[in-house]
Amino acid sequence: MAELSFRNISKSYGDTQVVAGFNLEVRNHEFIVFLGPSGCGKSTILRMIAGLDDITGGELSIDKRVVNQLPRRDRNIAMVFQNYALYPHMSVRDNIAFGLKRMKIAPDEIDRRIRGAAATLGLEQFLDRKSTALSGGQQQRVAIARAIVKTPGVFLFDEPLSNLDAKLRNHMRVEIARFHQRLKTTTVYVTHDQLEAMTLADGIVLLRSGLIEQVGTPREIFERPDSQFVAAFIGTPAMNFFEVDVNGSELNAAGRNAPAVFVDRERFDLNGSKTVVAGVRPATSAPRVLPTLLTSSMAMSTSSNSLAMTLWSISSTRSRDWRPPAGATVSLGRRSRADDILGR
Ligand code: ADP
Repeated sequence: MAELSFRNISKSYGDTQVVAGFNLEVRNHEFIVFLGPSGCGKSTILRMIAGLDDITGGELSIDKRVVNQLPRRDRNIAMVFQNYALYPHMSVRDNIAFGLKRMKIAPDEIDRRIRGAAATLGLEQFLDRKSTALSGGQQQRVAIARAIVKTPGVFLFDEPLSNLDAKLRNHMRVEIARFHQRLKTTTVYVTHDQLEAMTLADGIVLLRSGLIEQVGTPREIFERPDSQFVAAFIGTPAMNFFEVDVNGSELNAAGRNAPAVFVDRERFDLNGSKTVVAGVRPATSAPRVLPTLLTSSMAMSTSSNSLAMTLWSISSTRSRDWRPPAGATVSLGRRSRADDILGR
């Protein structure tokens, strides 16, 4: 078990900075997911933890020990890659044992650990098979078993499920969640798949262009996105956005005669804004649920005087089952009838 501390970590390749000012504390037992679009720096940070890439600036500690200069083998970590790269000529058992033999662990202890990992991952009946005679999902389980038997303080996963088909990916996601519940090993998991992040993580670190956009629990990130980028990145189908004029401290719903959305005043101060960007999650626009307007901190969005907000729920009596599909144009405002506040 271990905790991780990142203090102002940066990474440059030549003149190009790909990670800047990265600060994060990962507590013992936590399952942290780095999430973000391709190229945002997730793997680079993981590789710095693993000791596969040098740290350009800042300090990385594992269990309060600064590890910047520590060789990989002394960091008490085990990594599972997207490409599981098993030794094809070896049996599953030998693949799992390989790292342990190099660590000079006694044979009976190796055997005990292999049996434990095989039981955890349902590999008992495959131990004597060649690794090439396994399906992709089984091979990935062997790769995970190979990491588990090292009993590291930290597991690092780099897109471990990306090469599997959708069904297997779902299955393996559940298995990973299960064995983390059982082993409780501190884990850092890199993915661009928000579903993996939302279902596995205790905490999500959402990255954009080498910077942290938001850190929070899956629920916090979903319900209280700090910016329009986060709001747009999380949630399927994607959130709809539209600009709403502000009239004093009220939303002016498309010129109609009454505002149709209610603003959570504790979170949003509309004074001084001309327009805000409201977002509607298609799945949450439940009819009759009365509008609490939310999102978090009013991050600036693309136009300089517009603010990113999330409209949590809006109500409609026009059609109780209607949900705005992703990309739909939605207008807000009362029409002639008092409760007809949502239209297309
Ligand atoms: P992610 O894992 O989020 O997809 P990466 O961490 O792999 O992103 O990459 C972050 C950025 O760093 C990308 O723009 C990538 O092109 C760049 N990068 C990664 N490795 C190298 C390298 N060895 N040399 C130069 N640039 C690199």
